[in-house]
Amino acid sequence: MTISFEIPEHIQQQSQLVRWIAESTMRPYARELDEREHERPTAFVEQMWPILRDQQKATLDKLRQAEGGTGESGDKPKSGRVSTRMLGLMMQVEMLSWGDTGIYLCLPSPALGGAAIEAVGTTAQKLRLLQRFAEGDQPVWGAMAITEPGAGSDNSAMSTTAVFDEETNEWVINGEKIFITSGKLALEESNGLVIVWATVNKAAGRAGIKSFVVEAGTPGVSIGKVEIKHGIRASDTASIVFNNARIPADNILGSAEVQMSKDSKGFQGAMATFDASRPLVAASALGIGRAALEFVKEKLAENGVEIPYGVPYHKLTAIQRDVLEMEAQLRSAYLLTLRSINMLDEGAHNSLEASMAKLKAGRAVTFIAQKAVELLGPMGYSREWLAEKWMRDAKINAIYEGTDQINCLIVARRILGYSRNELA
Ligand SMILES: Cc1cc2nc3c(=O)[nH]c(=O)nc-3n(C[C@H](O)[C@H](O)[C@H](O)COP(=O)(O)OP(=O)(O)OC[C@H]3O[C@@H](n4cnc5c(N)ncnc54)[C@H](O)[C@@H]3O)c2cc1C
Repeated sequence: MTISFEIPEHIQQQSQLVRWIAESTMRPYARELDEREHERPTAFVEQMWPILRDQQKATLDKLRQAEGGTGESGDKPKSGRVSTRMLGLMMQVEMLSWGDTGIYLCLPSPALGGAAIEAVGTTAQKLRLLQRFAEGDQPVWGAMAITEPGAGSDNSAMSTTAVFDEETNEWVINGEKIFITSGKLALEESNGLVIVWATVNKAAGRAGIKSFVVEAGTPGVSIGKVEIKHGIRASDTASIVFNNARIPADNILGSAEVQMSKDSKGFQGAMATFDASRPLVAASALGIGRAALEFVKEKLAENGVEIPYGVPYHKLTAIQRDVLEMEAQLRSAYLLTLRSINMLDEGAHNSLEASMAKLKAGRAVTFIAQKAVELLGPMGYSREWLAEKWMRDAKINAIYEGTDQINCLIVARRILGYSRNELA
């Protein structure tokens, strides 16, 4: 496998456009939207929607071409990388999170729901379900719901059920999901969808867990509580209640026959979803980390403190050492993220690298944002500057998509060759 550290020209150009959006429609509203928790960032959504719709359309067109038998795999850069799609996404997510993570999470896109559809859905399902994000003139949101009041890190304990009704040819879903990012935007504020993980056979454990598409407007689906949070406050985080929610038979992701068998392919789909999404969470963490680091360096420079490079350690001040440590943490997290993304673009299995990147980036950004508050003195703690907000926003990267502890376990299991039962 090759890793290219060079960012292709077309992605650099895209990054410049995204930077402009981040500077003009995110940063200036970051404080205000944090204060007014859950208010939709209208200017940002309006600017991003056409861009994302075009990106989504390009993805669909490639799928359609592949379906038509052309075998086209899209852009083939000089480095030999099969695709640069995920690399482009990584750079976009990093830049948008540099603008503001809470606002970035309001991006009108399939989000985690899309990752699940791509990981588990058949080609026909991908084409059908992703179409609403690629066409139409209104923004649409997607979400993914795994977490329940009694099942977080241990997803296999989930109790939401999906029962097949042969008479009506529908799945009937009952249960409650909590802490679902963009759940309200997807189901109440747009014609979106949520991918819901539920068990079709509790006795079968993880093998009985499958994923289902629940579309906005489905009777029996309601938004419960919308969380009031510590950070990423512009993003809606909602609970979703399913009370005899009926969905078409074809809304089970993947082939119904495979899904109904007793193997664990259904739940492996959840893991495949995380393989794609964890590197992007890492990218989001990198964006916050860079924002905090750049701001600290700017303020230190205003006070006459420059950061020297190539100078012996003992000749540095404590503050200079701190800043260099922040930079080193950010850089190593960036390289791990790049590696996990590169593997995705090459179609390689990246579970280990995805967990490593997410773990490292989550820890690095938590450290960097906290250090920034410390180095900036009392103004670091003031709401006048964004440093205290970045510290609050940073922490989520160590929680969702698998906590630090869970990703540590995954890394350890994979390196040491232990099974889930041997190292829990
Ligand atoms: C803002 C926000 C947005 C979210 N968005 C989504 C979403 O879109 N969709 C979704 O499905 N979920 C979402 N979540 C839920 C998130 O994924 C879970 O909170 C997370 O997986 C942890 O689960 P839990 O909260 O039940 O914690 P628990 O599993 O109860 O864990 C509590 C603590 O124990 C530790 N722990 C647990 N098991 C072990 C172990 N075996 N070894 C060592 N330590 C362990 C954990 O690391 C954690 O520190 C979101 C959460 C938040 C806060």
